[in-house]
Amino acid sequence: MKRILTGDRPTSDSFHLGNYIGSLKNRVKLQDEYDTFVFIADLHALTTHFDKTEDLEKNIRGLMLGYLSVGLDPKKVTFFLQSKISEITEIAYYLSVLTSRPLIARQPALKDKLDSGAQDTVGLFYYPILMAADILSPRANLVPVGKDQKSHVEFARDIAIKFNNLFGQVFPIPEPLIGEVPTLPGIDGQAKMGKSSGNAIFLTDSQEEVEKKVMSMYTDPNRIHATDPGRVEGNPVFIYLDAFGTESDKLQVAKHKDQYAKGQVGDIEVKKYLAGILNNFLDPIRQKRAEYEGKPELVDSILKEGTRKMREEAQKTLNEVKKAMKLDYFE
Ligand code: ATP
Ligand code: MG
Repeated sequence: MKRILTGDRPTSDSFHLGNYIGSLKNRVKLQDEYDTFVFIADLHALTTHFDKTEDLEKNIRGLMLGYLSVGLDPKKVTFFLQSKISEITEIAYYLSVLTSRPLIARQPALKDKLDSGAQDTVGLFYYPILMAADILSPRANLVPVGKDQKSHVEFARDIAIKFNNLFGQVFPIPEPLIGEVPTLPGIDGQAKMGKSSGNAIFLTDSQEEVEKKVMSMYTDPNRIHATDPGRVEGNPVFIYLDAFGTESDKLQVAKHKDQYAKGQVGDIEVKKYLAGILNNFLDPIRQKRAEYEGKPELVDSILKEGTRKMREEAQKTLNEVKKAMKLDYFE
């Protein structure tokens, strides 16, 4: 069975709509076909949140509830905590000695993080190398991620190819799998909704919070009256409608787009329609989360058991890496 590996930073105690459409949805869809490994990336969270470690434990539990509430099945999926697998950081070191420094310095994802105010630390610079080790440690074939992470998966591919060419076939070459919406915009119209960007609708938001956030959403800034023709293309309201409407909503969504473009419907009406669609999508997720919230020991044990299983996998890979590099002396 081929393997999936992907993960999330515990920078919040909940996922948002972008995480769902960019990555979680593909994981749920593929969990029967692939041996799926999902991890909480607490080491990656430190690159931008090293001064907020007091929130990590709560956020880790929140993301575990998030996984279970969107339908990832603990019988099929191995959940693990990144910081508990020291083999990953050790493999990252071996990859780092093969990594061109200028290549990392040119990564667009690094520039984006620095532009959004992250401190220019060695840890942040090392992010892609650690992420390559995350992917290669369980010898993953497929990595479901949002488009913002695509360049990191490509780096993991390149470094796996380089390692295999130098030392022999150890790693399968991983492929990225981008979600049906590659990057969901934020409610403020920013190109990317983010857990840490203050522009997200969270899967845990109440019906009222969703309504309030949708009502405040950025739409077409040039449209002042409901009778002005509006822009549908690139308008976050319609991007969300396309992403979260069901098959049976399609006709209505198309009608709203048509009326909006012709200036026959107001922003408020379209937003009310969107809030209803989002709440319909979120209701079963909220319900399932509430069920698991009542079973904290079960949720903790799922993470602990998965971490134990992943450790065995990572130990196997580390042994192969050291053997291939002829570093298995004095053992
Ligand atoms: P942070 O702002 O703290 O970095 P985040 O929202 O970017 O949080 P991550 O934990 O970094 O979330 O990423 C988890 C997964 O969700 C990744 O696969 C990432 O590519 C995907 N993802 C994040 N934001 C979006 C988005 N707006 N649209 C599509 N996919 C996204
Ligand atoms: Mg992110």
